[in-house]
Amino acid sequence: MSLEKSKELFKRAQKIIPGGVNSPVRAFSSVNMEPPFIERGKGTYIYDEDGNKYIDYVGSWGPLILGHCHPEVVKNLKEVVDRGTSFGACTEIEIKMAELMVSTIPSLEMVRMVNSGTEATMTALRLARGYTGRNKIVKFNGNYHGHSDSLLIKAGSGALTHGVPNSPGVPEDVVKNTITARYNDIENIEEIFKKYGEDIAAIIVEPIAGNMGVVPATHEFANRLRSITEEYGSLLIYDEVMTGFRVAYEGAQSLYNIKPDLICYSKIIGGGLPVGAFGGRREIMELMSPVGPVYQAGTLSGNPLAMTAGYTTLKILYENPDIYTELNRLGEKLANGLKEHVKTLGLKATFNAVGSMLCMFFTDKEVVDFETAMTSDTQKYAVYFREMLRQGIYIAPSQFEATFINAAMTDEDIDITLEAAYNALEAVKRMG
Ligand SMILES: *Cc1c(COP(=O)(O)O)cnc(C)c1O
Repeated sequence: MSLEKSKELFKRAQKIIPGGVNSPVRAFSSVNMEPPFIERGKGTYIYDEDGNKYIDYVGSWGPLILGHCHPEVVKNLKEVVDRGTSFGACTEIEIKMAELMVSTIPSLEMVRMVNSGTEATMTALRLARGYTGRNKIVKFNGNYHGHSDSLLIKAGSGALTHGVPNSPGVPEDVVKNTITARYNDIENIEEIFKKYGEDIAAIIVEPIAGNMGVVPATHEFANRLRSITEEYGSLLIYDEVMTGFRVAYEGAQSLYNIKPDLICYSKIIGGGLPVGAFGGRREIMELMSPVGPVYQAGTLSGNPLAMTAGYTTLKILYENPDIYTELNRLGEKLANGLKEHVKTLGLKATFNAVGSMLCMFFTDKEVVDFETAMTSDTQKYAVYFREMLRQGIYIAPSQFEATFINAAMTDEDIDITLEAAYNALEAVKRMG
């Protein structure tokens, strides 16, 4: 496999873009290699600038649940683009998008469109603070909600901690109202509420964490988050940026049978275009400007291209529930095949999967939170990754990301992947 042209491009990119990339994970640094530059995609496959073909398990980090260039999405986009790309004014497609979401997601009574997941969570927190008149928020260690200042924190030391900035440039003053909690730890959240409950505006949570590898909340934990926020008059914000329309059409909230107060979306709802959204209870959403006092705005929010790609994608998913059956079947087939290989080769790995969102951790520990996820051997993952890529299988260039199945995948793609995975796992075994 040659990556000559990609190497050239990466050199060029590094001269004028920090690290050569517009989002850090794309630099492939955690798998110790240089990234291929992608030229095009079709269905399940992507092709790089050197003409290598890959089966794509990243899917633009989740949005492309229908695969690349779904014919209906492309057709509708082409029609819209001829009429103008953005007006910064009202368009009917925004209503169609909102109507579709609100009529099909039970906890969503009103919704507002933004342009990224980061913007959605940032604004949902502002709204929660505006609604409750409280300042503190709770975030779980290892959950990712984008890169806005108050969420860019890691856990401090000690049991009941306020987070510390995860990046230079985030003032301590900004994060002093963010409390970090341990994921899947009921006692910890109860202690936090006992001490700060009256001041907590909201808990924000990934109901199925997807940014420390895949780590689902237990049902007990998910239920306790709902009950404790109700007891203290705080809001429960579900960050379904990754899980929404992925683990089920109605998202993780339907698998846990929980009604959050606010929900954040992005990824799939943009069908591959930049988008984000937040919504929930009407009484809370009506505090948003211009009806209410909580300010938020966006020049390109609800633009016709993103709305069209998103609306078309959601409509296809809603009208074809069998897509989820098939996604989940292929996900299970891949996970079972990988488990079988790991067993045959006598390796140690832990599998977490929810439908078409999978993760194989190179650890013998059960992975239930950030600490246990961090026991994974990332050097083993790097070898596994490079061997997979060499054989034309494109998985996430980091241990702590999900593998995604898309609706264009077939049994044959999974079979090819499993064959490659056996070779890659053999290479991992040779590391000792
Ligand atoms: C991707 C992601 C985000 C951030 O979305 P961006 O569009 O990259 O800003 C937030 N939360 C979760 C759960 C995500 O997976």
